[in-house]
Amino acid sequence: MRLYSTKNTSSFVGLGEAIMKGLPDDNGLFMPEHFPKLPEQFIKNLKDYTFQEIAFEVSKTLFQGAIPENDLKEIIDNSINFPAPIQTLDEQTHILELFHGPSLAFKDFGARFMAQIMSYFNRGNDKELVILVATSGDTGGAVASGFYKTPGTKVVILYPKGKVSMLQEKQLTTLGHNISALEVEGTFDDCQALVKQAFLDKELNAKIRLTSANSINIARLVPQSFYYYEAFKQLNDYINPIVFVVPSGNYGNITAGLIAQKMGLPISHFVAASNANDIVPHYLCTGDYNPRPSVRTLSNAMDVGNPSNFARMQDLFGFTWNNMSESISGYSINDEATKLGIKEVFEKFNYVIDPHGAVGYLAFKAYQKNHPNTKGIILETAHPSKFKDSVEEVIGQKVDIPERLAILSNKKKESTLMNTMFNPFKDWLISNY
Ligand SMILES: *Cc1c(COP(=O)(O)O)cnc(C)c1O
Repeated sequence: MRLYSTKNTSSFVGLGEAIMKGLPDDNGLFMPEHFPKLPEQFIKNLKDYTFQEIAFEVSKTLFQGAIPENDLKEIIDNSINFPAPIQTLDEQTHILELFHGPSLAFKDFGARFMAQIMSYFNRGNDKELVILVATSGDTGGAVASGFYKTPGTKVVILYPKGKVSMLQEKQLTTLGHNISALEVEGTFDDCQALVKQAFLDKELNAKIRLTSANSINIARLVPQSFYYYEAFKQLNDYINPIVFVVPSGNYGNITAGLIAQKMGLPISHFVAASNANDIVPHYLCTGDYNPRPSVRTLSNAMDVGNPSNFARMQDLFGFTWNNMSESISGYSINDEATKLGIKEVFEKFNYVIDPHGAVGYLAFKAYQKNHPNTKGIILETAHPSKFKDSVEEVIGQKVDIPERLAILSNKKKESTLMNTMFNPFKDWLISNY
């Protein structure tokens, strides 16, 4: 398997290099050279495969021998080890619950797979790997738990001070061991900028073996495509048009869906559901791409003003607006509507949905107005208890916190305060690693 940079399509690296580096030197994003088609028999008979078997078939086909089959099986067994069930609200509306992992968010899939695969490619290397992650909410918790105590790895998580929920913060700051948290006095975009700059800094990279764990790492993206097949399998409907509705921030999740489609999964259309940070829906409507600083919303894991995977989406569609806007419809849902969406889903279906899922639900409703005969699979990206306060306020009822999250509230937060300047961050890295 070979990968190129979205900024230079004529120079290639192997899978191991793409994963360990995270970002190409030219600041583009790694993209697989080919997306091989899965056998038709596999697509037609998904119901005969377990989730892990699906993950194995898909990654084996994409990786083309870059990882021996036995090792790949082990990576999958150790990472894709919790379910992704569908809950049906009505005939046309289906919720894909992606929050059954340790940090209660879909990012567990990507983070755990990446931790396993990095540890595989790091075998036999005695230089410690330092993984940098910028998080707007959920990434950090998933990555922290994915890498926790993984030999040869240290994780540094940057998060925007005051912009993540109390339990999210606890997920980042209470593990200890090989996990450190930096509390940045700025926005998520500031955190992401610091991480990007670290990768471009020659001196730093000569001293420390740095890699990234954001959704820009190809190892995060690949496992996120597995559950599109798993969802399709559960619906087992090859006749009606199936639409995937993806609550989006950095647009990694939807990119993974586009990859599944490219490899042969018969997805008829995508709905990109965003909150007030509507850069991509605006682009899909008008053709104008105007990144800008993010604004804070109820669905804070999607508060992204300059989505990093947009470059991959453009690459997948040959940098043609026409192609992208035919395959994806974008909707922006504000906080007031989001609250009403949570309420509606609760009252109509007795289902507690989190603010991100509610954005998806409403985007699907909007899409359905002009496409009444589609079935929608809405990705529910986080457990509602992660956004307990806003959900409880709307439904007027307590939301149960799963045990694995509840025990965090009594643990002590350990973090280091940082401003948004690069040099103090760089000095901190050099003196700590
Ligand atoms: C990260 C996240 C998203 C956005 O996913 P992207 O891949 O960045 O588009 C949506 N919902 C939740 C709960 C998240 O944590």
